[in-house]
Amino acid sequence: MLNTIIRNMGISPEEDQEALRQAGEILRTGGLVAFPTETVYGLGGNALNPEASKKIYAAKGRPSDNPLILHIAAPEELPPLVRRIPDYAGKLMDAFWPGPMTLIFEKSDIVPRETTGGLDTAAIRMPSHPVANAMIREAGVPVAAPSANLSGRPSPTTAQHVQEDLDGRIDMILDGGAVDIGLESTILDVTGEVPVILRPGYISREDVERLIGACEVDPAVLKKPSKDLRPKAPGMKYRHYAPKADLTIVEGDPERVVAVIRQLTEQSLAAGKRTGILCARESAPQYSGFAVKDIGSRRNNATIAHNLYRCLREFDDENMEVVYSESFREGELGMAIMNRLTKAAGYHILKV
Ligand code: AMP
Ligand code: MG
Repeated sequence: MLNTIIRNMGISPEEDQEALRQAGEILRTGGLVAFPTETVYGLGGNALNPEASKKIYAAKGRPSDNPLILHIAAPEELPPLVRRIPDYAGKLMDAFWPGPMTLIFEKSDIVPRETTGGLDTAAIRMPSHPVANAMIREAGVPVAAPSANLSGRPSPTTAQHVQEDLDGRIDMILDGGAVDIGLESTILDVTGEVPVILRPGYISREDVERLIGACEVDPAVLKKPSKDLRPKAPGMKYRHYAPKADLTIVEGDPERVVAVIRQLTEQSLAAGKRTGILCARESAPQYSGFAVKDIGSRRNNATIAHNLYRCLREFDDENMEVVYSESFREGELGMAIMNRLTKAAGYHILKV
């Protein structure tokens, strides 16, 4: 058991500076620090130190073939880590860095295979969160960081979520409050002629197309991976984002969906199961009397993305055994929301 230091950020510039100095020292000497980013909380270690990467896998219980994303503080830190930067990747960086976009390049020799899960490619991102940026600068090394949850749990969107999962397993948590976006970064493979989305996120396919003119999507993004359909991001083959409850998405004509969810919930309750409902603000009143969680208005997809993991964790805290959810496909963010929700449901979608 480690004694995990927890530091609140944003109290005073002096205290922030001291916390960041301490975090930088821990990272340089091979320890682990959880920190806020604009997407979710990350669990950081020195990306160039194979022992630090091994510690990250151990703390999370993460399979060692699931590579880590390297976080940098400035675009100038990229070239030493990669072999080649295609022109279109430069355009993407200019437009979306710092921000919620991870790019996959062929890696250079200084990036150890312990960090890349044995692959010859490396995933790199420059986060925009000021605490993340300052911490990476303070560390003076690229910071390998997966989401700061135990493997299989929803990604953490607050420092309390990190503490629930990792207290005593890591050296330090920088508490910067609730994150902004709440879903992990968009991952784009830029090793080929056109960018390919391996994991959808806040930066949408349409955002990339508007800039570059072309953007493909890995077929494994929305379908259940199988022997013939292997996702190019190794992490996407695991049952990520899994709540404890048996989650089913009900999709179709909105009125039918409400009627079917009500009926299924009644049946499940009659069978003695603790049962919850995840729905849009607009339909919440129609489920009154049930344990319903309002994920936000359909008119604001960013709010739905922001609330998704918190709602899933709350169902866990309430020991729900069965959850029925509406579906949220609309808009450019729909792909990212449904990718996470479908995985959480173990691909169980009921079309009505
Ligand atoms: P997480 O750290 O939990 O946000 O997960 C990181 C995601 O990035 C996982 O799905 C990884 O499989 C993916 N990833 C990281 N590095 C690579 C890489 N070199 N090639 C493909 N996917 C990667
Ligand atoms: Mg993760």
